[in-house]
Amino acid sequence: MHFSPGSQPFIVPDEMAQLLASPELLKREKALRLRKIYQDNADNFNPLRDLSNFGRYCFLGQYDKLVKEYNETKPNLRATETSYKWGYISLASNGSRCIRTLSQFSPFIPTLLFLIGSGAPVDLPDIAGLTALHHVAMNNRVGEVLQILLAAGANPNIRDIYGTSPLHGAVQYDQIEAVEMCMKHGGDIHLLDNDGYSPFAIVRYASPTMHATIHKYLRLYAGVVVPMEERGKCAACGKMGCKSQCSRCRVVRYCSPECQVSHWKNGHKTTCVPFNSVETTVVCRPSFGTHQGEHFPTSAFHNHVMADDIGDGERERRRDEKYMAAYGLREEQNAKPAPKAPRSLKFVPFRHVMLGKSMIVKLQLPVGPYIRDKPATKVEGQIREILVYNRNRDFVCTIIDDLQPEVYTRLETVIKDKGSLGGLKGYFAAELESQDRLKVKIGDILADQPW
Ligand SMILES: [Zn+2]
Ligand SMILES: [Zn+2]
Repeated sequence: MHFSPGSQPFIVPDEMAQLLASPELLKREKALRLRKIYQDNADNFNPLRDLSNFGRYCFLGQYDKLVKEYNETKPNLRATETSYKWGYISLASNGSRCIRTLSQFSPFIPTLLFLIGSGAPVDLPDIAGLTALHHVAMNNRVGEVLQILLAAGANPNIRDIYGTSPLHGAVQYDQIEAVEMCMKHGGDIHLLDNDGYSPFAIVRYASPTMHATIHKYLRLYAGVVVPMEERGKCAACGKMGCKSQCSRCRVVRYCSPECQVSHWKNGHKTTCVPFNSVETTVVCRPSFGTHQGEHFPTSAFHNHVMADDIGDGERERRRDEKYMAAYGLREEQNAKPAPKAPRSLKFVPFRHVMLGKSMIVKLQLPVGPYIRDKPATKVEGQIREILVYNRNRDFVCTIIDDLQPEVYTRLETVIKDKGSLGGLKGYFAAELESQDRLKVKIGDILADQPW
């Protein structure tokens, strides 16, 4: 198959122009429609035809030619090009996403640094209000580009015509690094788009790794410290990869007996909540079988807000092929592998090897049949089950309401009050004592884990 970019002229179609000129706030169907046309029509963009020499050098990351052209013609760096009105920083940033380069060191890095250093505005919005950061936050191929833009003052809260910020896009497209970077640079997780969705509202449709990242920052801002924020971190010296733990509480880790002693003396003595205590630990009877309840799909990624084929990267692949072919470039040898599909949860029969093992488990409340983002309430004749599993998913069970209503209620209360995803899931220290006894320590709710 052979692609050639931009066989059609790259102009703004009538319908798109009408939507852009619409006096009212763009939302819902109209916003989705505009997004779709914007993206489909962008395929007509042909950098060889639609850009000035200077713009083309930006887009292709041809640094040497760019500097020469700049010195000779002194282009206006505040100007925009093409019918979409892309500024030069946007062209270089988008180029870094579309053009794969064979060298280790991306030519887009010096290109962007040169443009910024020469005074090109970093947040110049295009025809739909998208800035370079909007694009890169959704899909960044050269890690440094994101850092360069943010360091140059790109605003993670700048809103496009749909009211969405770069942080919205980063969450939507499961870009963990972009979310972290945007939040470090003051990205507002509660900023509402025209439809009333904040990035935080979309998080519930994102991967567990994304939940863990966002909640880490929210706790950081709030000054809240929870155990197991970073897996295997020594509570005393901060060293990573520690396996030994405080056997009393089972939530803090240490690298050495010395660190444990000093941490105990320096205050853990008063904060250590014992694992084996009636007040803080619930003994449940796990059921090993198929479960009936419906649970929130935390690893499924729902296309909730934006009209695009999210997740499979098909659009990027198509565009890549097209550009690679057009510029006679070869496919990079060590190209990034496609992201793995989320692992599905299979029921594992009870295994004796799990006995006596200290582990972290995730407890998920069942969701209601109609209101899928709220825990299911009790309905006569219907079984409610809390889904329980560990990181490796070699321990999977459920806790059934009808078999142990008191236990169920205690767990449900803690998860609703202190859990994440609006009270749908929580992580706890646990131990399987026997086939019929699973101890879950509800005295400490642990930080969200990336699974
Ligand atoms: Zn240590
Ligand atoms: Zn302890």
